[in-house]
Amino acid sequence: MESTTQGKFYIQTFGCQMNERDSETLAGMLTDLGYGPCGDKAEADVVILNTCSVRENADKRFFGILGQLKKYREERSDMVVAVCGCMMQQQHVIDTLKAKYPWVDLVFGTHNIHQFPQLFQNVVQERRKIVEIWEDGGAIVEGLPAKHLYDFKAFVNIMYGCNNFCTYCIVPYTRGRERSRRPEEIVEEAKRLARSGVKEITLLGQNVNSYGVSRYEGGYCAADEKGPDFAGLLYLLNEIEGIERIRFMTSHPKDLSDRLIGAFADCEKLCRHIHLPVQSGSTEVLRRMNRRYTREQYLELVSRLKDAVPDIALTTDIIVGFPGETEAQFEDTLDLARKVEYDSAFTFLYSVRKGTPAEKYGDQVPEEVKHQRFNRLVDVIHGIQAVKNKACEGRIEKVLVEGPSKTDPRTLGGRNDANKTVNFSGPRELTGQIVDVRITEGKTFSLWGEVAGRPSPCPQKGSKSGPAPGKEGEHE
Ligand code: SF4
Repeated sequence: MESTTQGKFYIQTFGCQMNERDSETLAGMLTDLGYGPCGDKAEADVVILNTCSVRENADKRFFGILGQLKKYREERSDMVVAVCGCMMQQQHVIDTLKAKYPWVDLVFGTHNIHQFPQLFQNVVQERRKIVEIWEDGGAIVEGLPAKHLYDFKAFVNIMYGCNNFCTYCIVPYTRGRERSRRPEEIVEEAKRLARSGVKEITLLGQNVNSYGVSRYEGGYCAADEKGPDFAGLLYLLNEIEGIERIRFMTSHPKDLSDRLIGAFADCEKLCRHIHLPVQSGSTEVLRRMNRRYTREQYLELVSRLKDAVPDIALTTDIIVGFPGETEAQFEDTLDLARKVEYDSAFTFLYSVRKGTPAEKYGDQVPEEVKHQRFNRLVDVIHGIQAVKNKACEGRIEKVLVEGPSKTDPRTLGGRNDANKTVNFSGPRELTGQIVDVRITEGKTFSLWGEVAGRPSPCPQKGSKSGPAPGKEGEHE
């Protein structure tokens, strides 16, 4: 490992937690090469934009920011601009980069992130442009470094790719087929994180419920090896000393097993929150989305979850204005949201993704109708959220403290069991600790409270509240 500082890096991440975790790997690699992080791309020697192709907005923002970088790159011949992530797995994006952004130094994709140190050094030493994209995921590469955003909580990938081919989604084309990491590698990583002081891990996969299901060459298959499925993996991780909270995302409703529901009851470290993307409350829209469950099946699943874990917090993703969505079908979505009583939801306007089946659907919903429906849905979701948060007043929540607020250093912020943001006054030394907080005010988007007890070493069970609007969701 290099010990001298070679320069400064700046990484901007678009999209989901999988991308955030990839950026942590890139930060770890650059740290090993002797680079240190900086907070301003104008000052950086290396700028990496880690892209997302799931929604049109992220595409547009990427090209906007890339355009801004041009002047820095022209002023400094030693600067390296690299772009990676899901967008780079699409040929039309590569063609655009070559034609309009020829000054970009390094382009790589989701499947060859492990090659980054070598590619980067080649760019630096030979001052030549490199475009290296792999079509396929290949074997999982273990042992890559990572520089986590927090010392006390971390993302842990358990699988890569997706086999579901929802008709609106580009992920199976950009992230490849499902392949699972070996359970012993995951357990070892969690133990390593625990030894370094990490209290909370979030297990990541496009659909964690199908962990170990796929037979992918070089990947782990639970049936072939008679090893743990996703629920089994949770039981293994629940035993690790030092890990106090376990979260996961994302769960496809069609694959959610009774064993997983049972794990919520058995594993005291498993946070009682599940993100269960519904996407639509209409069976016909779900069929056109190729989601492979009906409205009734989803509601039945929610009812089983609530029966088994009465205080479970439920969050979701909903797409508004999918092609062909009628007013009645949209109202089915409003009705489902009211029935489930989501603690929060990530709502998205449908946007056409090049290369997906839904791109060819002729019956696109007009933009003004989409926006109008979107606003109505958000009103319903926020109304439910406000009521649920109000009901938290007076409760004592266990909060993993993330640190002082940017705007007021006397206010600490953290997350409770349900992943809800909780703000309270306290010394910054509480950062990284789990603290009992009495909730004094439940607002629509966060809870506010006061310290009710000393930092707790125990995993939390029994606190009830709604999860926060935060950076989560099936994709972004
Ligand atoms: S929406 Fe989720 S489950 Fe469906 S194809 Fe995309 S990543 Fe896979």
